[in-house]
Amino acid sequence: MSTMKATTLEFKPGERNIFFHLLTACNLSCCHCYINPEQHGTATVSKETMEEWLRLFYRADKRSNVIFLGGEPTMHQDLAHGIHFAKKLGYETITVDSNGYLFHDLLNKISPDDAVLSFSLDGPEPAVNDPIRGQDVFTTCTTNLKKAVALGFDVSVIYTVSSMNLHHLERMPALLQQLGVQRFFIQVIGIRGKSATSTDNLQISPEEWLSIIPPVAAQAAKAGIHVIYPKVFLEPEEKFGCAGLEAENFFIFPNGRVYQCPLCEDFPIHSFEICDHRLVKRDGLNEDRFFQLAIPEGCVMNKLLQGDTINYQADGSPQHRISCCLLKQEMRP
Ligand code: SF4
Ligand code: SF4
Repeated sequence: MSTMKATTLEFKPGERNIFFHLLTACNLSCCHCYINPEQHGTATVSKETMEEWLRLFYRADKRSNVIFLGGEPTMHQDLAHGIHFAKKLGYETITVDSNGYLFHDLLNKISPDDAVLSFSLDGPEPAVNDPIRGQDVFTTCTTNLKKAVALGFDVSVIYTVSSMNLHHLERMPALLQQLGVQRFFIQVIGIRGKSATSTDNLQISPEEWLSIIPPVAAQAAKAGIHVIYPKVFLEPEEKFGCAGLEAENFFIFPNGRVYQCPLCEDFPIHSFEICDHRLVKRDGLNEDRFFQLAIPEGCVMNKLLQGDTINYQADGSPQHRISCCLLKQEMRP
Protein backbone atom coordinates (compact mmCIF):
# COMPACT_ATOMS: atom_id res chain seq x y z
CA MET A 1 0.00 0.00 0.00
CA SER A 2 1.35 3.44 -0.93
CA THR A 3 2.39 5.86 1.81
CA MET A 4 2.56 8.81 -0.59
CA LYS A 5 0.05 11.49 0.29
CA ALA A 6 -1.41 14.09 -2.03
CA THR A 7 -1.50 17.71 -0.90
CA THR A 8 -4.07 20.14 -2.25
CA LEU A 9 -2.54 23.25 -3.78
CA GLU A 10 -4.83 25.99 -2.48
CA PHE A 11 -5.38 29.12 -4.58
CA LYS A 12 -2.71 31.63 -3.65
CA PRO A 13 -3.77 35.18 -2.89
CA GLY A 14 -1.30 37.68 -4.29
CA GLU A 15 -0.50 35.52 -7.29
CA ARG A 16 -1.75 36.06 -10.84
CA ASN A 17 -1.45 33.62 -13.68
CA ILE A 18 -1.61 34.81 -17.26
CA PHE A 19 -2.43 32.10 -19.81
CA PHE A 20 -1.47 33.84 -23.02
CA HIS A 21 -2.70 32.18 -26.24
CA LEU A 22 -0.45 33.79 -28.84
CA LEU A 23 -2.24 32.18 -31.78
CA THR A 24 -4.81 29.47 -32.44
CA ALA A 25 -2.92 27.83 -35.31
CA CYS A 26 -1.18 24.51 -34.80
CA ASN A 27 0.76 22.05 -36.95
CA LEU A 28 -1.04 19.13 -35.29
CA SER A 29 -4.65 18.06 -35.08
CA CYS A 30 -5.04 16.14 -31.82
CA CYS A 31 -8.29 14.25 -31.12
CA HIS A 32 -8.95 16.18 -27.93
CA CYS A 33 -7.83 19.64 -29.06
CA TYR A 34 -9.62 22.37 -27.13
CA ILE A 35 -8.82 25.19 -29.55
CA ASN A 36 -11.98 26.75 -30.90
CA PRO A 37 -11.32 29.12 -33.83
CA GLU A 38 -15.05 29.92 -34.06
CA GLN A 39 -14.81 31.57 -30.67
CA HIS A 40 -11.22 32.73 -30.68
CA GLY A 41 -10.51 33.45 -34.33
CA THR A 42 -7.49 32.53 -36.40
CA ALA A 43 -5.34 35.56 -35.68
CA THR A 44 -1.83 35.67 -34.31
CA VAL A 45 -0.94 38.47 -31.90
CA SER A 46 1.70 40.80 -33.28
CA LYS A 47 5.03 41.39 -31.54
CA GLU A 48 3.77 44.82 -30.43
CA THR A 49 0.51 43.39 -29.05
CA MET A 50 2.46 40.66 -27.25
CA GLU A 51 4.52 43.34 -25.47
CA GLU A 52 1.48 45.50 -24.77
CA TRP A 53 -0.58 42.66 -23.26
CA LEU A 54 2.34 41.39 -21.19
CA ARG A 55 2.61 44.90 -19.75
CA LEU A 56 -1.15 45.16 -19.25
CA PHE A 57 -1.37 42.03 -17.08
CA TYR A 58 1.86 42.40 -15.11
CA ARG A 59 1.62 43.63 -11.52
CA ALA A 60 4.81 44.50 -9.69
CA ASP A 61 3.12 43.99 -6.31
CA LYS A 62 2.01 40.44 -7.11
CA ARG A 63 3.71 37.24 -8.11
CA SER A 64 2.91 37.31 -11.82
CA ASN A 65 3.38 34.14 -13.89
CA VAL A 66 2.90 33.79 -17.62
CA ILE A 67 2.21 30.61 -19.57
CA PHE A 68 2.55 30.92 -23.35
CA LEU A 69 0.07 28.73 -25.21
CA GLY A 70 -1.54 28.31 -28.62
CA GLY A 71 -2.36 26.56 -30.82
CA GLU A 72 1.32 25.83 -30.84
CA PRO A 73 3.11 28.83 -29.30
CA THR A 74 6.50 27.97 -30.81
CA MET A 75 5.00 28.60 -34.26
CA HIS A 76 5.04 32.29 -33.30
CA GLN A 77 8.22 33.77 -34.69
CA ASP A 78 8.48 36.25 -31.80
CA LEU A 79 8.00 33.81 -28.93
CA ALA A 80 11.65 34.08 -27.85
CA HIS A 81 11.29 37.87 -27.84
CA GLY A 82 8.10 37.57 -25.75
CA ILE A 83 9.92 35.36 -23.22
CA HIS A 84 12.79 37.84 -22.87
CA PHE A 85 10.35 40.74 -22.67
CA ALA A 86 8.30 39.03 -19.93
CA LYS A 87 11.47 38.29 -17.99
CA LYS A 88 12.59 41.91 -18.21
CA LEU A 89 9.19 43.11 -17.03
CA GLY A 90 9.57 40.98 -13.91
CA TYR A 91 7.33 37.94 -14.47
CA GLU A 92 8.27 35.47 -11.77
CA THR A 93 7.86 32.32 -13.86
CA ILE A 94 7.59 31.92 -17.62
CA THR A 95 6.37 28.65 -19.10
CA VAL A 96 5.92 27.50 -22.68
CA ASP A 97 3.38 24.71 -23.26
CA SER A 98 4.48 23.06 -26.50
CA ASN A 99 3.50 20.01 -28.52
CA GLY A 100 7.25 19.33 -28.75
CA TYR A 101 8.01 20.64 -32.23
CA LEU A 102 9.88 23.70 -30.88
CA PHE A 103 9.75 25.69 -34.09
CA HIS A 104 11.95 28.72 -34.85
CA ASP A 105 14.95 27.13 -33.14
CA LEU A 106 13.61 28.05 -29.71
CA LEU A 107 16.23 26.09 -27.74
CA ASN A 108 19.01 28.20 -29.23
CA LYS A 109 17.22 31.51 -28.72
CA ILE A 110 16.46 31.26 -25.02
CA SER A 111 18.45 29.96 -22.08
CA PRO A 112 17.37 27.56 -19.32
CA ASP A 113 17.02 30.53 -16.94
CA ASP A 114 14.46 32.17 -19.19
CA ALA A 115 11.59 29.67 -19.23
CA VAL A 116 10.29 26.28 -18.21
CA LEU A 117 9.32 24.04 -21.13
CA SER A 118 6.26 21.79 -20.87
CA PHE A 119 5.89 19.07 -23.48
CA SER A 120 2.58 17.35 -24.24
CA LEU A 121 2.82 13.58 -24.49
CA ASP A 122 -0.26 11.39 -24.36
CA GLY A 123 1.32 7.97 -24.22
CA PRO A 124 4.46 6.11 -23.20
CA GLU A 125 5.12 4.97 -26.77
CA PRO A 126 4.20 5.94 -30.35
CA ALA A 127 1.48 3.26 -30.51
CA VAL A 128 -0.47 5.07 -27.78
CA ASN A 129 0.56 8.69 -28.33
CA ASP A 130 0.43 8.97 -32.10
CA PRO A 131 -3.18 7.86 -32.71
CA ILE A 132 -4.13 10.75 -30.39
CA ARG A 133 -1.60 13.42 -31.41
CA GLY A 134 -0.49 12.45 -34.92
CA GLN A 135 1.98 10.34 -36.82
CA ASP A 136 5.61 10.58 -35.65
CA VAL A 137 4.70 13.05 -32.92
CA PHE A 138 6.06 10.83 -30.15
CA THR A 139 9.50 10.64 -31.77
CA THR A 140 9.70 14.36 -32.55
CA CYS A 141 8.50 15.36 -29.10
CA THR A 142 10.81 13.06 -27.14
CA THR A 143 13.80 13.91 -29.36
CA ASN A 144 13.34 17.64 -28.69
CA LEU A 145 12.61 17.01 -25.03
CA LYS A 146 15.93 15.15 -24.69
CA LYS A 147 17.72 18.05 -26.39
CA ALA A 148 16.13 20.49 -23.92
CA VAL A 149 17.15 18.33 -20.94
CA ALA A 150 20.71 18.04 -22.28
CA LEU A 151 20.89 21.85 -22.54
CA GLY A 152 19.82 22.16 -18.90
CA PHE A 153 16.20 23.30 -19.34
CA ASP A 154 13.65 22.66 -16.63
CA VAL A 155 11.30 20.34 -18.47
CA SER A 156 7.88 18.98 -17.60
CA VAL A 157 5.43 16.69 -19.35
CA ILE A 158 1.66 17.14 -19.62
CA TYR A 159 -0.44 13.99 -20.15
CA THR A 160 -4.11 14.44 -21.00
CA VAL A 161 -5.96 11.39 -19.72
CA SER A 162 -8.82 10.11 -21.87
CA SER A 163 -10.35 6.71 -22.51
CA MET A 164 -7.74 6.29 -25.27
CA ASN A 165 -4.72 6.34 -22.97
CA LEU A 166 -5.95 5.87 -19.40
CA HIS A 167 -4.62 2.35 -19.11
CA HIS A 168 -1.17 3.32 -20.38
CA LEU A 169 -0.60 6.05 -17.80
CA GLU A 170 1.09 3.62 -15.41
CA ARG A 171 3.99 3.25 -17.84
CA MET A 172 4.71 6.98 -17.89
CA PRO A 173 6.80 7.28 -14.68
CA ALA A 174 9.46 4.89 -16.06
CA LEU A 175 9.62 6.84 -19.34
CA LEU A 176 9.86 10.19 -17.56
CA GLN A 177 12.63 8.89 -15.35
CA GLN A 178 14.50 7.69 -18.41
CA LEU A 179 14.02 11.06 -20.16
CA GLY A 180 15.15 13.06 -17.12
CA VAL A 181 11.81 14.83 -16.62
CA GLN A 182 11.26 16.05 -13.07
CA ARG A 183 7.69 17.34 -13.20
CA PHE A 184 4.59 15.56 -14.47
CA PHE A 185 1.23 17.21 -15.01
CA ILE A 186 -1.68 14.82 -15.40
CA GLN A 187 -4.81 16.47 -16.71
CA VAL A 188 -8.26 15.14 -17.34
CA ILE A 189 -9.74 15.35 -20.81
CA GLY A 190 -11.76 18.52 -21.13
CA ILE A 191 -15.30 19.02 -22.23
CA ARG A 192 -14.25 21.72 -24.63
CA GLY A 193 -13.38 22.01 -28.30
CA LYS A 194 -13.18 18.75 -30.25
CA SER A 195 -13.59 16.49 -27.22
CA ALA A 196 -16.96 18.07 -26.45
CA THR A 197 -18.30 17.09 -29.87
CA SER A 198 -16.31 13.91 -30.56
CA THR A 199 -18.36 10.86 -31.46
CA ASP A 200 -15.85 8.62 -29.66
CA ASN A 201 -16.42 8.64 -25.97
CA LEU A 202 -13.13 10.04 -24.72
CA GLN A 203 -14.36 10.92 -21.22
CA ILE A 204 -13.46 8.79 -18.21
CA SER A 205 -15.66 7.92 -15.25
CA PRO A 206 -15.12 9.09 -11.64
CA GLU A 207 -14.37 5.49 -10.66
CA GLU A 208 -11.69 5.18 -13.33
CA TRP A 209 -10.14 8.51 -12.34
CA LEU A 210 -10.08 7.70 -8.63
CA SER A 211 -8.78 4.17 -9.03
CA ILE A 212 -6.02 4.91 -11.54
CA ILE A 213 -4.68 8.45 -11.22
CA PRO A 214 -3.65 8.66 -7.51
CA PRO A 215 -1.76 5.32 -7.55
CA VAL A 216 0.15 6.31 -10.71
CA ALA A 217 0.92 9.72 -9.17
CA ALA A 218 2.29 7.93 -6.11
CA GLN A 219 4.36 5.62 -8.30
CA ALA A 220 5.83 8.64 -10.15
CA ALA A 221 6.55 10.49 -6.90
CA LYS A 222 8.38 7.41 -5.63
CA ALA A 223 10.47 7.50 -8.80
CA GLY A 224 11.57 11.04 -7.87
CA ILE A 225 9.07 12.98 -10.02
CA HIS A 226 6.96 15.89 -8.78
CA VAL A 227 3.37 15.17 -9.89
CA ILE A 228 0.52 17.65 -10.20
CA TYR A 229 -3.02 16.62 -11.11
CA PRO A 230 -6.52 18.03 -10.78
CA LYS A 231 -8.41 17.47 -7.59
CA VAL A 232 -11.76 16.77 -9.39
CA PHE A 233 -13.66 15.28 -6.43
CA LEU A 234 -13.92 17.01 -3.07
CA GLU A 235 -13.99 15.03 0.17
CA PRO A 236 -17.04 15.75 2.35
CA GLU A 237 -15.00 17.87 4.77
CA GLU A 238 -13.28 19.89 2.05
CA LYS A 239 -14.42 23.41 1.22
CA PHE A 240 -15.45 24.27 -2.32
CA GLY A 241 -13.84 27.34 -3.87
CA CYS A 242 -14.23 28.84 -7.35
CA ALA A 243 -11.01 30.24 -8.82
CA GLY A 244 -13.11 32.87 -10.58
CA LEU A 245 -13.80 34.35 -7.14
CA GLU A 246 -10.71 33.37 -5.17
CA ALA A 247 -7.81 33.56 -7.60
CA GLU A 248 -6.48 35.75 -10.37
CA ASN A 249 -6.27 33.78 -13.60
CA PHE A 250 -6.57 35.35 -17.01
CA PHE A 251 -6.96 33.25 -20.15
CA ILE A 252 -6.17 35.65 -23.00
CA PHE A 253 -6.97 34.95 -26.66
CA PRO A 254 -5.65 36.65 -29.78
CA ASN A 255 -9.08 38.17 -30.50
CA GLY A 256 -8.91 40.09 -27.23
CA ARG A 257 -11.25 37.89 -25.20
CA VAL A 258 -10.16 37.37 -21.60
CA TYR A 259 -11.74 34.59 -19.57
CA GLN A 260 -11.33 33.76 -15.89
CA CYS A 261 -12.54 30.16 -16.23
CA PRO A 262 -11.26 27.72 -18.85
CA LEU A 263 -14.56 25.81 -18.89
CA CYS A 264 -16.23 28.92 -20.32
CA GLU A 265 -13.94 29.27 -23.31
CA ASP A 266 -16.36 27.70 -25.81
CA PHE A 267 -18.91 30.44 -25.15
CA PRO A 268 -18.92 34.22 -25.61
CA ILE A 269 -19.30 34.76 -21.86
CA HIS A 270 -15.81 36.09 -21.11
CA SER A 271 -15.62 38.52 -18.18
CA PHE A 272 -13.24 40.94 -19.86
CA GLU A 273 -12.00 42.04 -23.22
CA ILE A 274 -9.06 44.08 -24.32
CA CYS A 275 -10.39 47.18 -26.07
CA ASP A 276 -8.42 50.27 -27.04
CA HIS A 277 -5.36 49.00 -25.15
CA ARG A 278 -7.32 48.58 -21.89
CA LEU A 279 -8.77 45.62 -20.03
CA VAL A 280 -12.52 46.26 -19.96
CA LYS A 281 -15.03 44.44 -17.75
CA ARG A 282 -18.04 43.32 -19.80
CA ASP A 283 -21.62 43.92 -18.73
CA GLY A 284 -24.32 41.28 -18.89
CA LEU A 285 -24.74 37.61 -18.10
CA ASN A 286 -21.14 36.45 -18.29
CA GLU A 287 -19.00 33.86 -16.53
CA ASP A 288 -18.46 36.05 -13.48
CA ARG A 289 -22.20 35.89 -12.72
CA PHE A 290 -22.10 32.06 -12.76
CA PHE A 291 -19.16 31.98 -10.32
CA GLN A 292 -21.42 33.43 -7.64
CA LEU A 293 -23.99 30.62 -7.72
CA ALA A 294 -23.53 28.22 -4.81
CA ILE A 295 -24.83 24.73 -5.66
CA PRO A 296 -24.48 21.39 -3.85
CA GLU A 297 -22.67 19.90 -6.88
CA GLY A 298 -19.70 22.29 -6.49
CA CYS A 299 -18.54 23.78 -9.80
CA VAL A 300 -21.43 25.51 -11.58
CA MET A 301 -19.92 25.29 -15.05
CA ASN A 302 -19.32 21.56 -14.68
CA LYS A 303 -22.97 21.12 -13.70
CA LEU A 304 -24.12 23.20 -16.68
CA LEU A 305 -21.84 21.56 -19.25
CA GLN A 306 -21.89 17.93 -18.16
CA GLY A 307 -24.54 17.64 -15.48
CA ASP A 308 -25.48 14.18 -16.75
CA THR A 309 -22.17 12.79 -15.44
CA ILE A 310 -23.02 13.69 -11.84
CA ASN A 311 -24.51 10.82 -9.85
CA TYR A 312 -27.00 11.47 -7.07
CA GLN A 313 -27.84 9.62 -3.87
CA ALA A 314 -31.37 8.53 -2.92
CA ASP A 315 -31.91 11.76 -0.94
CA GLY A 316 -31.10 13.85 -4.04
CA SER A 317 -27.67 14.99 -2.88
CA PRO A 318 -24.72 14.56 -5.26
CA GLN A 319 -22.44 11.57 -4.69
CA HIS A 320 -19.36 13.74 -5.19
CA ARG A 321 -18.92 17.49 -5.21
CA ILE A 322 -16.82 18.56 -8.20
CA SER A 323 -13.94 20.87 -7.40
CA CYS A 324 -12.87 23.83 -9.48
CA CYS A 325 -10.99 22.53 -12.52
CA LEU A 326 -8.13 24.83 -11.54
CA LEU A 327 -7.71 23.21 -8.10
CA LYS A 328 -4.73 20.89 -8.21
CA GLN A 329 -3.08 18.47 -5.91
CA GLU A 330 0.50 17.38 -5.83
CA MET A 331 2.66 14.49 -4.78
CA ARG A 332 6.30 15.19 -4.19
CA PRO A 333 9.15 12.69 -4.13
S1 SF4 B 1 -0.90 20.37 -30.02
FE1 SF4 B 1 -2.40 21.41 -28.70
S2 SF4 B 1 -3.22 23.05 -29.99
FE2 SF4 B 1 -2.18 21.61 -31.35
S3 SF4 B 1 -3.81 20.25 -32.06
FE3 SF4 B 1 -2.83 19.30 -30.28
S4 SF4 B 1 -4.09 19.95 -28.52
FE4 SF4 B 1 -4.58 21.31 -30.26
S1 SF4 C 1 -14.10 25.60 -13.18
FE1 SF4 C 1 -15.95 25.98 -11.97
S2 SF4 C 1 -15.21 26.53 -9.98
FE2 SF4 C 1 -13.47 26.77 -11.41
S3 SF4 C 1 -13.46 28.88 -12.12
FE3 SF4 C 1 -14.73 27.72 -13.53
S4 SF4 C 1 -16.81 27.90 -12.71
FE4 SF4 C 1 -15.43 28.46 -11.06
